[in-house]
Amino acid sequence: PGKRTRKPPWLKVRAPGGTNYRDVAALMRQHKLHTVCEEARCPNIGECWENRTATFMLLGDVCTRACRFCAVTKGRPQTLDWEEPFRVAEAVKTLGLRHAVVTSVNRDDLPDGGAIIFALTIREIRKAQPGCGIEVLVPDFEGNPEAVRTVVEAAPDIYNHNIETVPRLYPRVRPKAKYRQSLQTLEWAKAWGPSGMLTKSGLMVGLGETIEEVIQVMADLRDSGVDIVTIGQYLRPSNWHLPIKRYVRPEEFAELKRIGLEMGFKHVESGPLVRSSYHAHEQSAAAVCR
Ligand code: SF4
Ligand code: SF4
Repeated sequence: PGKRTRKPPWLKVRAPGGTNYRDVAALMRQHKLHTVCEEARCPNIGECWENRTATFMLLGDVCTRACRFCAVTKGRPQTLDWEEPFRVAEAVKTLGLRHAVVTSVNRDDLPDGGAIIFALTIREIRKAQPGCGIEVLVPDFEGNPEAVRTVVEAAPDIYNHNIETVPRLYPRVRPKAKYRQSLQTLEWAKAWGPSGMLTKSGLMVGLGETIEEVIQVMADLRDSGVDIVTIGQYLRPSNWHLPIKRYVRPEEFAELKRIGLEMGFKHVESGPLVRSSYHAHEQSAAAVCR
């Protein structure tokens, strides 16, 4: 552990830098927007931005939590920016998106965890770009049912909350979160959201979990009514972050996908470079069409 190992060939990515990539980067600067693509140093940024796909990050770029797998800056967050929902909607329109993914840092300093900003953003995107699929990737809101309700009442197409890892590894990977609480928020969203709204979750592998534990998490997600699951390789953003225990092979990801579909998920996106928002548009289309 801690030793630098060479990445396996299946983790090779496209280097950022095409015309579309530069357009997206300029637009984000111009609208003073944050993206998880940049803040989390996502390996897919070259491909996604070239395809004019990005994941917006609401509520600033400083997080009140300090998960040991995540590259987002930790600390005391900024004051709320009520103009942000409008700027995101404007950017969605300018980019001509057909599927927008909106996430946020965790804001445990706010009574509703920022749920109202999610709701406003959903409504503004609907107005600015009708027909665009809207996916929100939300925090656990510390298990606050009212926050979950606020978000689903704004009727996103997909309510996504990542379970991230297996329960045994929570104390090390997600110390401020609770496994059952995360499942509970997904159940609430399903029960209270509009009919037709899909729920989604995701986890990382390569942190020391066993395949059996991953399968158990998938079963728990199914029991909570989750429709779509994403599974990807954990990559260490820096030496402060948890070490990679192992590189999961593409065949194992394929096997997890097969198992997930058998369990009844509408869609399973499972592969080394899969992130919650990777190919998000194709994921939702596949889930709706099944
Ligand atoms: Fe951004 Fe998601 Fe693509 Fe990563 S996978 S670059 S976070 S849209
Ligand atoms: Fe990163 Fe989310 Fe954890 Fe904050 S709560 S450190 S943004 S994973």
